[in-house]
Amino acid sequence: MDFDSAYRMTINGTLVDSEAHIDVVNPATGAAFAKAPNCSVEQLDRAVAAAKAAFPGWRATPIAERQRLLAAAADLLEANAADIGRLFTREQGRPVEGAMAEVGIGVAWLRAHSVMQPPVHRVDGGDGQMIETQYVPLGVVGAISPWNFPVNLSIWKIAPALLAGNTIVLKPSPFTPLCMLKIGELLNSLFPAGVLNVITGDDGLGPLMTAHPGFAKISFTGSTATGKRVMEAASKDLKRVTLELGGNDAAIVLPDANVDEVAARIFYGAFFNSAQICIATKRLYIHEDIYDRMRDKLVEIARATKVGDGSEQGTDLGPIQNRRQFERVTELIENARASGLVLLEGSAVPEQGYFVPITLVDNPPEDSRVVREEAFGPVLPLLKFGDIDDVVARANDSEYGLAGAVWSSDIEQAKAVARRLETGTVWINSNLMLRPDVPFAGHKQSGLGVENGIEGLLEYMVPQAVYFPAA
Ligand code: NAD
Repeated sequence: MDFDSAYRMTINGTLVDSEAHIDVVNPATGAAFAKAPNCSVEQLDRAVAAAKAAFPGWRATPIAERQRLLAAAADLLEANAADIGRLFTREQGRPVEGAMAEVGIGVAWLRAHSVMQPPVHRVDGGDGQMIETQYVPLGVVGAISPWNFPVNLSIWKIAPALLAGNTIVLKPSPFTPLCMLKIGELLNSLFPAGVLNVITGDDGLGPLMTAHPGFAKISFTGSTATGKRVMEAASKDLKRVTLELGGNDAAIVLPDANVDEVAARIFYGAFFNSAQICIATKRLYIHEDIYDRMRDKLVEIARATKVGDGSEQGTDLGPIQNRRQFERVTELIENARASGLVLLEGSAVPEQGYFVPITLVDNPPEDSRVVREEAFGPVLPLLKFGDIDDVVARANDSEYGLAGAVWSSDIEQAKAVARRLETGTVWINSNLMLRPDVPFAGHKQSGLGVENGIEGLLEYMVPQAVYFPAA
């Protein structure tokens, strides 16, 4: 398959182009290098109609067969990982190794779902009555994904939606449409026509999907602001929603943490993917006893980290993915500078493209923008604390509640702190780890509903109880 051109949508088992197109920009250069279809209203209608027509047959397909096709999809993705990885770096910016890791995660998620099974509950109602509750699919799912993990977060939706017996219309971000168009083309050889549709378009396409009466559910990953708009639009006809939204994750480093051992891992948890991760460490609380040592070590790592074009050998971190986000992060750093905060910069970055130097902010006030807002870029506030109750309160003082981390040599003490954090996921002495068999759920304004695990699968289903006389 040609991964370098002919980017077409998959609608009803057919590869289709559109009349209008959107430019796809390589963030390492700032120049457009490809065009993706800009789906028309009529094409969206056709995709939804195709998914609707395919639904009864797919729903009736035995789950063992749906599982088999997901396993085959994993194999196909794995066989094409190198080509997808290269394309990924061009459109998303992340260096090739990290791009390949993302495809690997997609493969792992498909495989994990190929052995998942929704539960069946039986209750003896007495007086010769039995009740059997099964979970049944919803219908056509509209899936909307962001640009920071464009493959991974799309497959997080495709795998459970299809396993559950739904059909799907997926829309990746206009900033990163290409990999999922090609993956749609690849998987089209496996699934019956209409089961998996992939469409792309400009900023207007998402609202058209959330308003479309043909969808039974919208599964959305993106910012909290957009998530609220999705929920509002979906409320008109009570579409189900799963919303995986923003975060401003706190990591707490207790005084007994071994600075030399953990600094590099903390750095990775904050800056991998140029810090464009919903679950990245975005506020780092360091105990005052080790604050200076940890700050100096992080600055040393930042200065040794090579930021550049992800397609070049030896690059550790790539650019910011798109101009809009580049301008947002640059403005946040300028605001911190103008407020007189102390900024500690990492290595120099290329002038061309959407590059921002790694920036550590030395103990800014708790109410500064760089602490309160989700930066979603390589700027990290380092914050000093002395008292556990105080730091837990500061960590929890956020409208977000996605994930958090605690670093300590004393696991029991760290667990006690972890359980006090108001977030859906907490790591002790690690970060960024998620699994297909463990629920991932944002608390507060970080989301609604669950992805991953049986709980995530059941978000694509609805219970149906059948009462019947026992034999
Ligand atoms: P975004 O909200 O701008 O866009 C996400 C997707 O929604 C894109 O496909 C976009 O085209 C579409 N969209 C835009 N406006 C829409 C509307 N009105 N209706 C329907 N769809 C619309 O987010 P982004 O900038 O692509 O991603 C970054 C954000 O995503 C960050 O806040 C990050 O924390 C969050 N995120 C969350 C998770 C998670 O699992 N919780 C994972 C990754 C990213």
